[in-house]
Amino acid sequence: MNPLEAALEDVHTLLHNAAARSGRPSASLLAVSKTQPASRIRALAEAGQRAFGENYVQEALGKIAELVDLDLDWHLIGPLQSNKCREAAEHFGWVQSVDRAKIIEPLARFRPAALPALNVLIQVNVDGEASKSGCAPADIEALAAAIAAQSRLRLRGLMSIGAPYEDLAQRRASFRRMHALFLALQAEHPQIDTLSMGMSEDFELAIEEGASMVRVGSRLFGSRPAKPV
Ligand SMILES: *Cc1c(COP(=O)(O)O)cnc(C)c1O
Repeated sequence: MNPLEAALEDVHTLLHNAAARSGRPSASLLAVSKTQPASRIRALAEAGQRAFGENYVQEALGKIAELVDLDLDWHLIGPLQSNKCREAAEHFGWVQSVDRAKIIEPLARFRPAALPALNVLIQVNVDGEASKSGCAPADIEALAAAIAAQSRLRLRGLMSIGAPYEDLAQRRASFRRMHALFLALQAEHPQIDTLSMGMSEDFELAIEEGASMVRVGSRLFGSRPAKPV
């Protein structure tokens, strides 16, 4: 077994165990491939991984083109600038980082007619961090209504990037707040099915608190340079 296959198997075991421990359904795994070359994404895809997350539209486009033969699921998980909405809508299957009204209409308008509706998550700044993207919890409802009004978008749920608290109890509390926000939104939009939260350091905790999708980078690919090349 090569190291990527072994890491993938380890993460699957941890996902499964966290779900079993907490009596929750297992979560789906998004492999976060920012800074990773297409060759390593291909290797992980050959080991069975289908869904990949990228932070930067520009960085992702070359890899998406190079790996088109694999028909992978691409998720945009980084901040989306208005001038990148067209490329995001044309090349990704999911945008997890919708956090303001301004980008909703362009994402819908530029979604190619030949493709299914673009899957969308609302990113929530659940810990109220000044430096972070994501909407305030109070804005979720209005954004959800605006997304639901677009036939070329499909509202799937919520996403958060928790604050990197050292204290795991604080991380758990953030995940729990997100789960409550998710349930409240689901009461209005019963079709939503995705709560994306938890990364390499804390995805087991996130599953215990109701994540349906976890986003794992370094635990699969190894540590990465601070900035993309
Ligand atoms: C980088 C990143 C991840 C993965 O982080 P790891 O700690 O490497 O697992 C998940 N989500 C987002 C939004 C990221 O930017």
